[in-house]
Amino acid sequence: MEKSGQHVAGTSSPEAIQRWNEILDSLYDAAELLNTPQSVIKVLERPQRILEASIPLRRDNGDVEVYTGWRVHHNTARGPAKGGIRFHPDVDSLETSALAAAMTYKTSISQLPFGGGKGGVNCDPTGLSLGELERLTRRYTWEMLPLLGPDRDVPAPDVNTDGRVMGWLMDTVSMARGEESAATVTGKPLSIGGSLGHVGATASGVVTCVRAAFLLNDLTFEGARVAIQGFGKVGGPLAYLLHSAGMRVVSIADVTGAIHNPGGINVPALGEFVKESGGVVGFTGADAITNEEFWTTKCEVMIPAALALAIDSTIAEKLDARIVVEAANGPTSEAADKVFAEREIPVVPDILANAGGVTASYFEWVQNRQGYPWTSQEVATRLHDNMHNAFESVHDKTVELGVSMRRAAMAVGLERVSEAIIDRGFRF
Ligand code: GLU
Repeated sequence: MEKSGQHVAGTSSPEAIQRWNEILDSLYDAAELLNTPQSVIKVLERPQRILEASIPLRRDNGDVEVYTGWRVHHNTARGPAKGGIRFHPDVDSLETSALAAAMTYKTSISQLPFGGGKGGVNCDPTGLSLGELERLTRRYTWEMLPLLGPDRDVPAPDVNTDGRVMGWLMDTVSMARGEESAATVTGKPLSIGGSLGHVGATASGVVTCVRAAFLLNDLTFEGARVAIQGFGKVGGPLAYLLHSAGMRVVSIADVTGAIHNPGGINVPALGEFVKESGGVVGFTGADAITNEEFWTTKCEVMIPAALALAIDSTIAEKLDARIVVEAANGPTSEAADKVFAEREIPVVPDILANAGGVTASYFEWVQNRQGYPWTSQEVATRLHDNMHNAFESVHDKTVELGVSMRRAAMAVGLERVSEAIIDRGFRF
C-alpha cells in the first residue's frame, strides 16, 4: 500500500512562494507610492476566496488518478473574477493565488470591469489522451461550479489549455444549469460564441506595446532585432506578427532548444517546420544556439513569452537588449528586475504587455451578453485602442511618480482597485 495522503495538503514550491512574495512586495511598493489606506492593503494581501478540490480521473486503462485543482478569486471589487485555467505540474494554491493577484491589477490597468482570478489543475497534460483531458476538464468544472458564472467568475485559456478545453467547460456548466452559458467562459471556439480575434490577441497586444516602447525609446521598428523565448500560443503568433511588421526575429527559444539567424528567421517557414517536428530545433533556416547564447543575443528587444521566472539576475546581467517586453506572466524575477533598473534597460511589465488576451476575453464576454458578434476589424481596432490607452496611462504614471514602468503599472492597477474597494465601503 502506498501512503501519500500527507503529501496532498498545502505544500508550495519555492518558486510559488517566490511568486507570491514578489506580488506582495510590488503591492506594498505601489501602496507606499500612492499612500494607499491600510484597509485596502489588508484586503489585497490575501486572496478573497480559494476553492480546492480533488479531481478524480478514470484513465483510459481503467486506473483512477486523483489530481488537485484550484480556483482562486483574488479580488472582485471591480467586477467578476477573470483569469485563465492552466494544467501544469507546477500548479498549486499559492502559485494560482499569485497569478490571480496579477489578474486583479491587469484587468484594472486595462480598465476592464473585472476582478482577478485564476485556476488550474496540478497535472501533466502531455501524458493524457484527449478523452482523459476532456474528463479531467469536466470534473474540474463540476467541482468549481459554485464559483463560476458570467457575473461571478469567467475563466479563459492559459498554459496548456485552449478553445477546446473552454468548449468542454462551457458545455459542463450548460448541462449543470440547464441553460445557455456562453458568457461563463471566454476563449471559446467561434461556433459556440467565441470572438473573432481572440486567438492571437495576447500577441497583438504585445505588438502594440513593442511599437509604443520603441517610440518612447527612440528606436526604429523597421528592421529591428527581436529575440523571443517561446514559440507556443503567444510566442508563435507574436513572432509571426513582428516578422510581418518588418522586424528581424533573430533568435527563438522553446523547450527543445534555441535557434539564431542574424538576418532574421523566416517565421512562416519555421511555423510549418514546428507543426511537423514539435519544436524549433533542427530548423535548417537558422543555426542551433545554446540557451546561454539565446539570452545574450544582441537585439533591440527581448521578449520572454513562455513560463514564469525565466530571467534571473545572472541572465539579466548579460542580456544584450535595449528593452524587454514581458509577454509571459511573471517571467522576470525581482532580483533580475533590480539589475534591469541598474542597467537602465526599460521593461514593459507583464500586467500591461500581455493584457491583450484578457482584453479580447472582455470583448467576447460583451458580445455573448449582447448576443451580437463583432467583426474582426472591430475587435482589432478596439484591442489596439485599449492597449494603447493602457500603455499611455502607465507611461503617464512613470512620469508622475518618476519610477519604472513595472512600478508605475502596479500603481495604476492598485489605484483603481483601491478606489473600488473604498467605494464599496471598506474605508476604515
Ligand atoms: N490567461 C490570460 C492571461 O493570463 C487571459 C486571461 C483571460 O482572458 O481571462 O492574461
